[in-house]
Amino acid sequence: MNFRDFKLHPQLLEGLDAMGFEKPTPIQEKAIPIILENKNLIACAQTGTGKTAAFILPVLHKLLQHKNKGVNTLVLAPTRELAMQIDQQIEGFSYFTNATSIAVYGGGDGQTFVTQQRALRSGADIVIATPGRLISFLGSKKVDLSSLEHLIMDEADRMLDMGFYDDIMKIISKLPKKRQNLLFSATMPPNIRKLAKNIMDGYEEVSIAISKPAEGIVQQAYMAYDNQKDQLLGGILKNNDFKSIIIFASTKEKVKNLSRRLKNSGEEVRQFHSDLDQKEREKLMQKFKAKQVRILVGTDILSRGIDVEGIDLVVNYDVPPDPEDYVHRIGRTARAESTGTAITFVNDNDIKRFKEIEKLIEKEVPKISLPEKLGKGPDYHSSNRRTSSGRGRGRSNKPGNRRKGNYRGKNNDRNSSGRNKRSSQRNKRS
Ligand code: ADP
Ligand code: MG
Repeated sequence: MNFRDFKLHPQLLEGLDAMGFEKPTPIQEKAIPIILENKNLIACAQTGTGKTAAFILPVLHKLLQHKNKGVNTLVLAPTRELAMQIDQQIEGFSYFTNATSIAVYGGGDGQTFVTQQRALRSGADIVIATPGRLISFLGSKKVDLSSLEHLIMDEADRMLDMGFYDDIMKIISKLPKKRQNLLFSATMPPNIRKLAKNIMDGYEEVSIAISKPAEGIVQQAYMAYDNQKDQLLGGILKNNDFKSIIIFASTKEKVKNLSRRLKNSGEEVRQFHSDLDQKEREKLMQKFKAKQVRILVGTDILSRGIDVEGIDLVVNYDVPPDPEDYVHRIGRTARAESTGTAITFVNDNDIKRFKEIEKLIEKEVPKISLPEKLGKGPDYHSSNRRTSSGRGRGRSNKPGNRRKGNYRGKNNDRNSSGRNKRSSQRNKRS
């Protein structure tokens, strides 16, 4: 199968050539024809499988067939990073066309607000927005969506996890009733179908291998006590084959402390978490993309959707609280068809959680022995005891803790607007 088989607009094919896209990915192969037929769609495929192009290409194609006045397509995305990234991809695909797009997201200063507002007023074919920010523009009547034909929700699962349901419904109430609805998601929790039922009459559904890390990722785990982790990590970072590295830790405090220790041991690292303002984050991402920064240490706010090519190593300094997060974290490497390595440090308290991850991905992750000088690590097969090293069993067993509330911690988008009641919890996490 080739992109030409979809009979896409020649200017789009030109854009695809320029971007080096040859063959559609499986989700693109399935979703694009359905979207071209103007049907509603729920599409589910893991991170890194090319969902953005799956929804953008057919929409751009239709837009080029008949360009209407005003906003033609609205893409809702959970975070500003993702909104910007979608916008960038659209710019790539539409390079040889006259289609226009604009990203609208929270954070930034008053100037950003004014710039976005002005851009919105002068109009764009495609608006990519985080829900909270769009609502503030809708409230001030700065955006006219009456000519809208396509509504796309990207990372719908995540938007719901982050508590955007009401915002989404509010936005939808302002849209023309006759429109095409496209929901894209990495997972398919029941609330996605509920949302779908509420907003559209009937839809097609395509789903591709849920929650399995991409084939190109080499996964490994080290069993290591907390006091062995730094030395272990130090050794791994010395391997110069790894040119672009992300290290995840589950809380902002952990990220800060770990970055400090790494710096003290001579590593050049930068940290990425919710304390950084938007400009700092953008700058840092740019440097990381340009490979001017080799190592990024971050919370799970880095783990979803961010698309940087050529990350060859992801280290989980701890086991993520939710198994799905593991898939998202390691999905930062081996994007599209490349390869990458994902290494997870599993301490005595995290064994049970890591077993849940292996269950989810239906695969046993090879356990690598610690370098001899580090001594013995915990035993993976004696996990059911309740050890009391340090602070006890972490979060994995406490009801409520592994609930969706955890995800909200990663939402930064609403920080700035102060609309989210859970900000204190969030700040702890990200
Ligand atoms: P997802 O949204 O499913 O996580 P993305 O849309 O961000 O994935 O795509 C992941 C990466 O794969 C991006 O770098 C994108 O440019 C690349 N990609 C997507 N489709 C193709 C394709 N058909 N051929 C080559 N690369 C692709
Ligand atoms: Mg995506």
